[in-house]
Amino acid sequence: MKTGIITTDTYLNHNTGQGHPENADRVTVIIDHLKNFKSKNLIWKKPKKFDHKYLQLAHDKNYLSDVQESFPSQGLNFLDGDTILSPGSKEATSDAVGSIITAIDGVMNKDFRNAFCAVRPPGHHAERKKAMGFCVYNNIAVGAYYLLEKYSLKKVAIIDFDVHHGNGTQNIFFNNEKVLYISSHQYPYYPGSGAANEKGSKDNVLNIPLTAGTQSHEFLNAYDSIFKKLKKFKPEFILLSAGFDAHKDDPLAQINLESKDYYILTKRIMTLSEELCDEKIVSILEGGYDLNALKESVGFHIKSLLE
Ligand SMILES: [Zn+2]
Repeated sequence: MKTGIITTDTYLNHNTGQGHPENADRVTVIIDHLKNFKSKNLIWKKPKKFDHKYLQLAHDKNYLSDVQESFPSQGLNFLDGDTILSPGSKEATSDAVGSIITAIDGVMNKDFRNAFCAVRPPGHHAERKKAMGFCVYNNIAVGAYYLLEKYSLKKVAIIDFDVHHGNGTQNIFFNNEKVLYISSHQYPYYPGSGAANEKGSKDNVLNIPLTAGTQSHEFLNAYDSIFKKLKKFKPEFILLSAGFDAHKDDPLAQINLESKDYYILTKRIMTLSEELCDEKIVSILEGGYDLNALKESVGFHIKSLLE
């Protein structure tokens, strides 16, 4: 079965400054690792240009014009303490969104069965009116709106297995019953949101907070309630906010997954997606900051997507 890999080298020009954990090497090691698969079932594609009206569905108009004016012509510009723009960020941030749109079109047109977007910057901390936590545009939120608008879907599920709560995605869809947002994350922890009692105004948010030190079997068991909620919601498409920073070697958090756990987790999501939505899955990179753990974990994630 075929899996689309959507990426471009414009991510190299999104410079976050020296010593920043969210740097270009992250995507470079993933691409090198996946090229080594030498699989003819991996379909490599570049993000296409897209109509920026879709950005306006996820973000406030004033926020978008502020961002447009913040791309520096030289040097770096800080949107917050750790969200940084460089001259190349304009193209990279747009291509990160273009990647999920290209991936969705490819799955809907059956060019490939599912897809993974190897992008930066990540997106799930970006709120409707605020850049935050390395994120400028909420890539996955634009993807979900694109499915609702362009393909007239009625129900889209987002599963966010990044170790941090996707406060941005929750913020954008908090009152939207067409989108189910599910997140497992270390809690209490950055960004502070993600308590179990944050359920969305239409009961369309499920937060699974996990304590520091959570082990693989506890993490995977926590997904039982997630799968129950998904089955009840019956999504027509599943989007994955694929962060790999719940790995035991990740320097930014304290959950103890092994690389191969991402194979098991992905497999379980795939099995359910077969039953629920004709296997339609698009996954997009969020966090993951230990380069070796990141490339191995993405490798296991893609191995499962390919099967
Ligand atoms: Zn993260």
